[in-house]
Amino acid sequence: MYNLESIVRRLEEQRHRITPPRLAVARAVLDRSGHFSVDDILNQVPEVGRATVFRTTKLLSEMGILCRVLLEDGSLRYRLSHRQDHHHHLVCVSCTSVQELDACIDPEVLDDLARSTGYQIEGHWLEFYGRCDTCRSSEA
Ligand SMILES: [Zn+2]
Ligand SMILES: [Zn+2]
Ligand SMILES: [Zn+2]
Repeated sequence: MYNLESIVRRLEEQRHRITPPRLAVARAVLDRSGHFSVDDILNQVPEVGRATVFRTTKLLSEMGILCRVLLEDGSLRYRLSHRQDHHHHLVCVSCTSVQELDACIDPEVLDDLARSTGYQIEGHWLEFYGRCDTCRSSEA
């Protein structure tokens, strides 16, 4: 898992400046156990400007430290990523807990899609919605 030191190291490796507002946002993000919105971070670090919170969250997600999750109600959230590479999520519609997944679309499906549409496929976004184990057993 990430800590402030490892995030700072990653920022330095990629030659990003370490500024007090960026550090404040990184610290706020690390305090979060589940997913959060940009507004949650804004409330947590009111001394940091909105634009900086947006830019830093975007930067951290481009670096793979945060990932974006689309909840079933259509709202976009961020969470600390447990994987750096491309991945998908399982989202519980009952407790909104999020789990990261290994599974991805079969490359053959993407090839077929590209062939049949003439598109050069450059990316995809895929979340799975359902009821997690804990919610299912509490309902039973
Ligand atoms: Zn993720
Ligand atoms: Zn659940
Ligand atoms: Zn994928």
